[in-house]
This record gives sequence, structure tokens and C-alpha cells, in this order.
Amino acid sequence: MTILVLGGAGYIGSHTVYELIDNGYDVVIADNLETGYKAAVHPKARFYQGDIRNRDFIDSVFDQEKIDGVIHFAANSLVGESMTKPLKYYDNNLCGTKVLLESMVAHDIKYIVFSSTAATYGEPERIPIMEEDRTYPTNCYGETKLSMEKMFKWTSLAHGMKFVSLRYFNACGAHKSGQIGEAHNPESHLIPLILQVPNGKRPEISIFGDDYDTKDGTCIRDYIHVTDLSQAHILAMEYLVKGGDNAIFNLGNGVGFTVNEVIETARKVTGHPIPAKVCPRRAGDPAQLIASSQKARDILGWKPQYDDLETIISSAWNWHKNHPNGFDK
Ligand code: UDP
Repeated sequence: MTILVLGGAGYIGSHTVYELIDNGYDVVIADNLETGYKAAVHPKARFYQGDIRNRDFIDSVFDQEKIDGVIHFAANSLVGESMTKPLKYYDNNLCGTKVLLESMVAHDIKYIVFSSTAATYGEPERIPIMEEDRTYPTNCYGETKLSMEKMFKWTSLAHGMKFVSLRYFNACGAHKSGQIGEAHNPESHLIPLILQVPNGKRPEISIFGDDYDTKDGTCIRDYIHVTDLSQAHILAMEYLVKGGDNAIFNLGNGVGFTVNEVIETARKVTGHPIPAKVCPRRAGDPAQLIASSQKARDILGWKPQYDDLETIISSAWNWHKNHPNGFDK
């Protein structure tokens, strides 16, 4: 079976490609390399550099390859940037997906697994968050991902294509091979920023608020290993191929850790004191985000393997200490 991975040179995309190839799939990658890295492309995948907003480009990939299903990661994903440059997010995320879906319909491609986010929920109504809970994004990134999900729904109804949308909570960690890992530029995520301290790239970590209504006053998040996320994409594709209907699944561990707990665990893993300073809250941060992933467990048979924070941070540290500057561009 041949899978086209859009955005397969990015963080979660490249890890999913590694898992697909380990599981015997034939993989084609399309990526514009705006935020992805050529060095993250698996040597056994066939790589096409281009942009999904370009209909000729995406048509040419479907014309040259016999694609059975698509896994779609090609999007901008920085919450802060989405608030200052919303139209960039509408253009890449929504217009890109529109062109992709037109091309998929024209080429009669039936299955798509989509990289969505907990940011579709906004401020949660309850903890843990269930898939049927209210979606009211508090940032433009989450809004575009929610709109993309709706685009799949209506396209599916009209054209018979089937989709699974996977709403990730806090993706983190790195591949066990040490070949690929997280490398955003600029970096805005907590774990890689913390690990910049023992790597000598920043003097301290900022804690964005310690006056939340949580056990130690810092925000609680559900950290899920990137390899577990990758496995879920494969299970989701298998589910669709076996005749599964359109579905949305949360992907998280179901356990929350505070920012202080994450920093403390990183101190333990790295053996570095990692100084921290409390700063004002970051706009738009909910106090607590924890997933119920029971639906993915029940329907997809998904079972996260990396369920303790120390293992997750050790895997991230294994990557960051050996690649303090990420990938070479
Ligand atoms: N955070 C922090 N300091 C940082 C970066 C993040 O205290 O330098 C906090 C942030 O406020 C949030 C949590 O760490 O509560 C996770 O943030 P991240 O950006 O990694 O993921 P998000 O939950 O926003 O998707």
C-alpha cells in the first residue's frame, strides 16, 4: 500500500513516515520545506518538493504515483504566529487543503488521515476532554484546523471520500533511532525550550504564569510521545481501509503534568539545575488540557507506549543533546 504523507519532512510527519516504513508501507512525501527539513526525510521514501496550494504540483504527484491514502500534516502550526498573521494560516491551512481535496476528488483518492489539534476545543468545558465537547477555538491556528475538519466532512458527503481527524494534545519526544526529532525555528514549545538550558542555548526557562487554578499554579498539559501519535495515524489509515466511517479522535495520555513538574523531570533526566523564572501568563493559555483518548483506544485499538514523563523527556533529550542546533537546513 502506498501512502502520500503531506508535510512528511516536519516533526510529526517525519516520525510517521519512519513508522510507516517500519510497518512495511511504501511512502511518498510531499513537503515545501518551509518549516520541514530535507534531512528529516526518510531515505526509503520518495520525496517531492512542492506546495499543496499549487494544483499542478499536487496533481503531478497523484499522476506519477499510485496513491492509496493520504496523511495530511502540511500546515502552519504556531499558535502565536497565527494570531499576528491569521491570513497566512487561512492561506496555507485552508486554501492548501481546498486545493488538495480538489486534486484528491479528481484522482479518486478515497482515504485521508488528518493532523488536527486540541486547540480546536479552546477553553475546555470539562476535563478530560471528549470528542463531542464544544469546539470554540481561542486562536486562529485552532480555528483553521477546525475549519479543515469541516471541509473534510462536507467533501466526504459529496464525494464519498473518508476521513479520520486526529486531535493531538502536546506532542513531544523524538524517534528512538536518534535520527529525527523536534526542530522548530523559532522554538515555542515547552520541552525543547527547557532542554535548551542544559544545552547552553538559554540561561533559564520562563514559566508562563504560576497563578492558575492548578495544584502548583502552573498550567497542566497532556504530553504525548510523537511515536505514539505516529502509530495512531497508521491505525487510523487501516481503520479507513477496512471500511471505517468518518471519525474524530483525541490523542493524549490522559494524564496531566504541570509546567513545574515538566521542569523538575527535565532536571532529573539531564542532571542540570535548569533555573526557572516566573513570568506573566501567555495570552490564550487554558489552565488545563487533558484528553480522554478512550475512543481511539476502543475503536482504533491505540495504546500509547510512552506513558511516563521521564521516558518521554529522556527521548527528547537524547535528540536535543546530540542535535543542539536541530537539522542542517
Ligand atoms: N510554557 C511555559 N514556558 C515556555 C513555553 C511554554 O511556561 O517557555 C507553558 C505554556 O504556557 C503551556 C505549556 O507550557 O502551559 C505548554 O506550552 P507549549 O507551547 O509547549 O504547548 P501548548 O500547550 O501551547 O500547545
